[in-house]
Amino acid sequence: MPLHVAQLPRNTAGRPVPGNISWYEADDDGSILVTSNDELGGHITCSCTPGRGTPAFGEQCPVRQREFMIQRLCGVCTKDIDIVEQVVFVGETDAPYYLEPPLHRDCAAYALQVCPRLHAAGERIEVALAQTYTLTEDRITGVTAGGELRRARFAVGDPVARHLAVLEFYLAVPAAPIRMTGPEWVANRAKSVV
Ligand SMILES: [Zn+2]
Ligand SMILES: [Zn+2]
Repeated sequence: MPLHVAQLPRNTAGRPVPGNISWYEADDDGSILVTSNDELGGHITCSCTPGRGTPAFGEQCPVRQREFMIQRLCGVCTKDIDIVEQVVFVGETDAPYYLEPPLHRDCAAYALQVCPRLHAAGERIEVALAQTYTLTEDRITGVTAGGELRRARFAVGDPVARHLAVLEFYLAVPAAPIRMTGPEWVANRAKSVV
């Protein structure tokens, strides 16, 4: 387990909780909080605190997700990823963009081996290694009759989107990524460790 992962808050089973995961306290009714400012226009906010309450695995905190994406912070351990290091994105095969923040290589390898969801998906999980990435905005444009959120992607800072839609997440588009399946990458890394 990478050192910075070992320092993360844990769930009741003792498992470290990745930094991008939402937490719920007992008095939180789960409602979505929308606010607005000059920088982002309409956007979703959240006041959850890692380590307080119960983590919701599979659900990202929009505030930390955006912070990690913008600042090149690791979605698992929350620490910055040096500009000379490759970032790792984990997702489906040939994903054009990623909703989960970049990861350190060690943190990605750890997550692929211990996260039940990633482990179960096996070959269907792909890693994309890249030196850099660009961002687009994932905004909520409305609600369907069935109550589903309608979403659209916009360029970062799009002046019209700021008024029409509510920013939830940034999506990362890796530059010239090298892709391979999760198991293949983990196996290759194990071999190359002297
Ligand atoms: Zn939150
Ligand atoms: Zn990390």
